[in-house]
Amino acid sequence: MQPPLFCYVRVALDCPYSAPYDYRWALPLQPLPGMLVQVQFGHRKTVGLIVEVVDTTNVPQNRLRNIQNTCIDCPPLNKDWLKLITFAANYYHRSLGEVALPALPRALRDAARWPRLFTQEILYQLTEAGRNTLLGALPSRAIGARRLAQAFLQTNTLSAFDARTLYAKAAVTLDQWRERGWVQVKWRSDVEALRTGGTTNLVGGCQRAYIASQLNQYKGINKGGANLNDEQRAAIRSINSARGFTTFVLYGVTGSGKTEVYLQGLVDLFIRRPDAQALVMVPEISLTLQFEAVFREHFSSWPSTAFVTLHSALADGKRARNWLAAHTGRARIILGTRMAVLASLPRLALIIVDEEHEPAYKQQEGLCYSARDLAVWRAKQLNIPVVLGSATPSLETWWHACQRCYITLVLSRRAVGNAMLPKVRLIDMEIEKQVGRYRSDGLSMSLVKALKDCLARGEQSLVFLNRRGYAPILTCDTCSWVMGCSRCSTYLVLHKSEQRMRCHHCGGGGYIPQACPMCSSVNLTIFGPGTQRVEEVLSAVMPNARVLRIDADNTRRKGSVHTLLSEVHAGDIDILVGTQMIAKGHNFQRITLVSVLNADSALFSHDFRAGERLFSQLIQVSGRAGRAGDHGEVLIQTKHTQHPLYAALVRHDYIGFAKATLAERRDAYLPPFVFQALLRADSYSLDDALRFLKEASTMLDAVPGAECVTRYDPVPLHVVKVMHVHRAQLLLESISRVALQSALRAWVPRLRTLKSVNYWNIEVDPLNI
Ligand code: ADP
Ligand code: ZN
Ligand code: ZN
Repeated sequence: MQPPLFCYVRVALDCPYSAPYDYRWALPLQPLPGMLVQVQFGHRKTVGLIVEVVDTTNVPQNRLRNIQNTCIDCPPLNKDWLKLITFAANYYHRSLGEVALPALPRALRDAARWPRLFTQEILYQLTEAGRNTLLGALPSRAIGARRLAQAFLQTNTLSAFDARTLYAKAAVTLDQWRERGWVQVKWRSDVEALRTGGTTNLVGGCQRAYIASQLNQYKGINKGGANLNDEQRAAIRSINSARGFTTFVLYGVTGSGKTEVYLQGLVDLFIRRPDAQALVMVPEISLTLQFEAVFREHFSSWPSTAFVTLHSALADGKRARNWLAAHTGRARIILGTRMAVLASLPRLALIIVDEEHEPAYKQQEGLCYSARDLAVWRAKQLNIPVVLGSATPSLETWWHACQRCYITLVLSRRAVGNAMLPKVRLIDMEIEKQVGRYRSDGLSMSLVKALKDCLARGEQSLVFLNRRGYAPILTCDTCSWVMGCSRCSTYLVLHKSEQRMRCHHCGGGGYIPQACPMCSSVNLTIFGPGTQRVEEVLSAVMPNARVLRIDADNTRRKGSVHTLLSEVHAGDIDILVGTQMIAKGHNFQRITLVSVLNADSALFSHDFRAGERLFSQLIQVSGRAGRAGDHGEVLIQTKHTQHPLYAALVRHDYIGFAKATLAERRDAYLPPFVFQALLRADSYSLDDALRFLKEASTMLDAVPGAECVTRYDPVPLHVVKVMHVHRAQLLLESISRVALQSALRAWVPRLRTLKSVNYWNIEVDPLNI
């Protein structure tokens, strides 16, 4: 039978709430789902993804357009990836294209950039002559060349790029070797790498032996040469013995050596399966740097393409190349932030989510996905293990662990020699005030004394407060006017270094007023401390101390966090002042005192998760103290010394805190015992936003299954106005995830028929309420 001259393809495009579009396929190769194509859409050319190849279409022939081009060099995205995208689109109520295309690197979504992304790569292959003579022919002092020769003997083939990373002068040397007939040149493209199923340069039978020999050095030994402790070993044993889908909760106190467990898990995986891929996720870009350093050291013999990072701070081209390395299977370890969970990983065999409780795993705009939840889903789909690590697992995760759906692995003590968890002490601010030990700048005298003592001992300290700027409030003493943002319903924050008032919501602001605009009084006062003020105060009371501030204001430039942090690590700093940027993950070796200034502000929040977040933040920041030695101290300024959250913190009692909080949640019908979704509406008028939500709520009545869903009244957001736009939300809830999902499936498409607002968005499993 004659093959048809053309067929049709369904193409997902990045458009809201739309099904894939049909196009005619008349290119001289076989279309496949997962191919990237260039199409005409309306008046513009755009890139889409083939999700289906079909024989017929309902679109009239005269309206059908042809696929213009396809990205031949990019192997089609595989079935598993398409399933992941389909799941995410369904679960978060988006179109396929809205999930699929943003998940691809930008350079790949621009057809004009395709040719440059897929340049061919030179490969050098060892010849028989080279195998027999190479090593013997090299003088023993030619260390670099010998290193290169060793690598050839073990792997047979090396790319030019990998050769250069092994030996800087490789290009010249390889030319000489080629003339002598020791190596020969081959060309190979990324596509071929996928087809041959090989990794770039570790081909053939010696692959397994090579990796094993390289990795064996690290077995059971961490970088300091210390042996793993029993708990670490037990955790690694469990992870490595998992066959098929298993979710592990690695519950390890701060400094318990979770990183070593991840590392050994990876090492053992690659010994078992040299071609496997592992996804390692961290919540923040700054933490990728720290992990990258540790991993690169452990896998230093690997070619650099075998280990890639994926996060939004990478330049477009680099990100595309890293993504392609993952997609073609050349990258074995993929380290990234939440976006990495949507990467194409054809040989994925293990997923690690570090600090799984971090809210940063939840995307807050557009497709509001939880990278942690998708990681677990992906592991289940691929039937592989996933490790969720944290000192304070999210209550959702902990509940699953309590139900024995997840397996808990415990690291109960600090790993380094005699390091203990720090002593947590509360400074009662009411008492400080009564005895006149309170300072107007927000620091108590007890705290200042402790910082001075720490300095005198020659140790580092950390001062944590979640407020950047100089002072959060500027007010008139005479008439009580407070300086607010003209565009947002917030107060302006005084930034002394720039001599500006700044809005932390819209970035706007203005000059610092000399007099009150209401009553012309010049008695203007500031309230409360910000990081800049604390930095200034501490420099004044301790003139010899080297004080460093790290917050979003002084780390905007690329790499600046890294530079500042290395000053801390090097011991060039005595007192580190900062926001949550410095609170988590970092392995500071010399900090012995951690102090927390304005923790109370989160105690009585409108958001039921505020307590959980505060507790984990405090455990995290406390965890920066005394990581290397036997003494570490944490001081928390509070007016509520009797609060159960602080009592649990003093005892380092996450389990007690989790138990009590879960019991409260159960009584109050809150997650994880119910499932929620949030409809957000933004409009220039608050009334319009609320009207939209009310109509949406009414519309829900007509949806089948709506009786299983509780809905609340539409309410304005806590900060209702940002950039003149008013924001409101409608909360839906059900004790059944399935019921909630099926109601949403029927309801969300209908919302498009409502008189629209500036913006609306549906969020499933919202974190901020
Ligand atoms: P966590 O992520 O659990 O807070 P890390 O993984 O950063 O902790 O480890 C804290 C420190 O303990 C690191 O300096 C690490 O090198 C060290 N460490 C880990 N395991 C051991 C061990 N078995 N013996 C000694 N030191 C260890
Ligand atoms: Zn006034
Ligand atoms: Zn503003």
